[in-house]
Amino acid sequence: MREANKIICNQCERELKIEQGYLKEGSFSVDYAFGYFSSKDGVRHKFDLCEECYDKMVSRFRIPVEVTTNHELL
Ligand SMILES: [Zn+2]
Repeated sequence: MREANKIICNQCERELKIEQGYLKEGSFSVDYAFGYFSSKDGVRHKFDLCEECYDKMVSRFRIPVEVTTNHELL
């Protein structure tokens, strides 16, 4: 959840660390607009998770997250 100069984890309500306007820890931010074939057509969902809550969420996936690194872009 975002407030003025603040990002708060929607799951655990912890305020993420921001210094001089820069986020200083890992976070997972979603801003997703559901499309026409969804029952939520036209509805937008926004939330932020701290890295710990993100890890908890994906640990419940039956198929693990596909992990790649950005190294090949360098
Ligand atoms: Zn959290």
